[in-house]
Amino acid sequence: MKTITKKAYAKVNLALDVLRKREDGYHEVKMIMQNLDLYDELVFTVYENEQTGYCSQNNTRKITLSANKENIPTDGRNLIYKAIELMFDEFGIEATVDVALTKNIPVEAGMAGGSTDCAATLHAINELFSLGADTKRLMELGVKLGADVPYCVLGKTALSEGIGEILTPVTGLRDCYVLVVKPPISVSTAMVYTNLRANELTEHPDVDGMIVALDEGDLEGVASRMENVLETVTVKLHPEIEEIKNIMKNKGAINALMSGSGPTVFGLYKDETTAKNAGEYIRERGLSKEIYVTVPV
Ligand code: ATP
Repeated sequence: MKTITKKAYAKVNLALDVLRKREDGYHEVKMIMQNLDLYDELVFTVYENEQTGYCSQNNTRKITLSANKENIPTDGRNLIYKAIELMFDEFGIEATVDVALTKNIPVEAGMAGGSTDCAATLHAINELFSLGADTKRLMELGVKLGADVPYCVLGKTALSEGIGEILTPVTGLRDCYVLVVKPPISVSTAMVYTNLRANELTEHPDVDGMIVALDEGDLEGVASRMENVLETVTVKLHPEIEEIKNIMKNKGAINALMSGSGPTVFGLYKDETTAKNAGEYIRERGLSKEIYVTVPV
């Protein structure tokens, strides 16, 4: 028996631009992804077959998954399950794996919760079975399971282009606190992209300028370039997102933005107490129960 534990970090989009809708229906994006110190924990246990070892053709495949929250599927729909199947198929493995998921990242939030668990699983199976796949290979496998998965395999701070599979590491956000608020609303990513008029957008975030600001450690410069074109769809449907953004800004945030397709809103703060006080105010007003103060990683 072999066990390893993985942390799967949440992300926010410091900037999210959609350049165009391609003929095949996919959207071409240009985004800055940033991991936060808010993570799920995954404990993987592999049971060795005494006769054949881990990787025998004759061994049977058994994947079991448990989660600490009820709204997470624990069957073949879960991206953790899909990632194990993909790795087993790709590397010809048949074995018994058990995964215990402690979910801390808000679900259906625009924080890539499922994608990051998926990426952590690709890394875990690679290590547990000593498969020797490099990050590039894991990213290529990951994109088969979701556009955000390659970024999650890479992690930290990155420019994401194409449909999310072209990734360039950039200097990370630092010296700030991040207030994360997930309002109690469900937003379907597919619905947001379907309703986005990508080819008619007139305003686009200055992503290149943000990369320079990150490089220079210019927090104000980063904050002033925070923009997400998906707000044009989600905020219209859910005005409370704008309300939370405004509260954050009135309560000391340098800037605030919706992450991904929403509904999560995050604000950047210079000090922790101001961020905590703003979060408390939002909680007291009944706008959200899922509120975190964290830092970039
Ligand atoms: P993204 O930012 O990539 O759009 P999200 O935060 O909007 O992701 P997720 O939290 O990844 O959304 O969950 C979306 C759906 O995916 C959930 O409703 C759930 O049914 C399914 N799902 C599959 N695997 C997982 C997982 N490991 N954790 C959470 N949800 C999962």
